[in-house]
Amino acid sequence: MPEFQTSPGMRDILPAESSRWRRFVETFAEVVEGAGYGQVMSPLLEDLGVFQRIGVATEVVSKEMYDFVDKGGRHIALRPELTASICRAFVQHHPLTPWKIWYTGSMFRYEKPQRGRYRQFEQVGIEVLGADDPFLDVEVIALGWEFYRALGLSQVALLLNSLGEPTDRAAYVAALRTHFAANLEALSPESRVTLEANPLRVLDSKRLQDAPLIAAAPRIADFYSADAAAHFDVVQAGLSALGIPFTIDATLVRGLDYYRGTTFEYQGGTLDSAQNALGGGGRYDGLVESLGGPPTAGVGFAIGLDRTLLACDDEGVYPAPPAAVDVFVVDTTGGLQALTLTAELRAAGMKADRPYENRSMKSQMKAADRSGAAFAVIIGTNELEAGTVVVRPLRAERTEGAGQSTVPRPDLIEYLKKAIP
Ligand code: AMP
Repeated sequence: MPEFQTSPGMRDILPAESSRWRRFVETFAEVVEGAGYGQVMSPLLEDLGVFQRIGVATEVVSKEMYDFVDKGGRHIALRPELTASICRAFVQHHPLTPWKIWYTGSMFRYEKPQRGRYRQFEQVGIEVLGADDPFLDVEVIALGWEFYRALGLSQVALLLNSLGEPTDRAAYVAALRTHFAANLEALSPESRVTLEANPLRVLDSKRLQDAPLIAAAPRIADFYSADAAAHFDVVQAGLSALGIPFTIDATLVRGLDYYRGTTFEYQGGTLDSAQNALGGGGRYDGLVESLGGPPTAGVGFAIGLDRTLLACDDEGVYPAPPAAVDVFVVDTTGGLQALTLTAELRAAGMKADRPYENRSMKSQMKAADRSGAAFAVIIGTNELEAGTVVVRPLRAERTEGAGQSTVPRPDLIEYLKKAIP
């Protein structure tokens, strides 16, 4: 065992998996930039207070944050999510509304690591600030849906709920508290603690013992004001108009306290139930105000990259792209030819590599094979004298039946451009 390893819940992402991660973000950018969203890059660190506005009763904030005092005496934290940072940025820069943005980056939560749950993980997400239109909820939900389609995932289910207006939510929370408090002895000890801090979160409990009480709990739909009910109706009608299937889940309250109105979650079909949320989001119309801005509507989602890629593996879609180069230069004349040839090939836009340390022809050919290149370009003393190179196909599936040929060196680039599809 080496002395130093990644700390628990943190991982090195190596080639070619790292190419897949980058491509994941590119795919996401294509989907959301096609809908008018621009990228915001914000710092990894924020004042602790930014995240405390998410709600100190939220586990992400109360138990899982990486926070510390810096050399200047500031109490700061590594971001556990990005919505609060985006709202902070909105208050700081007062952009025109609706502000449609997307983001990507690492989040940090001190959780118990397991498959699909890490202490450093990646998210992609979008937020729209400054518009309360229910069709915006539909647009946001539909973009997440479209992204899963773009990855090739077919076993994703959309769960939908509404937490109503803040007053509806408050009345509902009070009713939940009464319901659970009246049946305290039937509740698991963990949920009794949750009940103290946030009765809504008891609905999140996956413990079998809590299931009957949760099933018998009051339903949020009975607490909707006329406005909240109308907003939710439009959201559902909009999703149906776009042909996006969804299931209403009255227990979907989501982890973070700032949600109100529409909430939703994308669930994977293949992962353990504790880790099957691939992404989720909702409305959070009070968050900007709590960060010192004007009353501002907000809606968005975050999608977990790590977990979504596990779902892709399980469904056998969105594999890592091949890491192979196009051309591998084999030079038995000392290495200078390989140096200039690879430089020429790279300058012409081809992926080219070469061996080092002046190895034998046999070992260079082995390296060429390992590289996955479509062609080896071979130069020995005879070719050097004749001003030619030998082009040898290495991978039948990438070279469309081409045979080996001797090519005048000035024609090499053109020859390869034709030969590599
Ligand atoms: P949340 O910000 O909690 O709503 O999470 C949004 C998405 O981020 C989830 O659906 C997961 O895909 C992902 N996620 C959240 N926490 C973790 C974690 N500890 N490890 C990996 N992915 C996570």
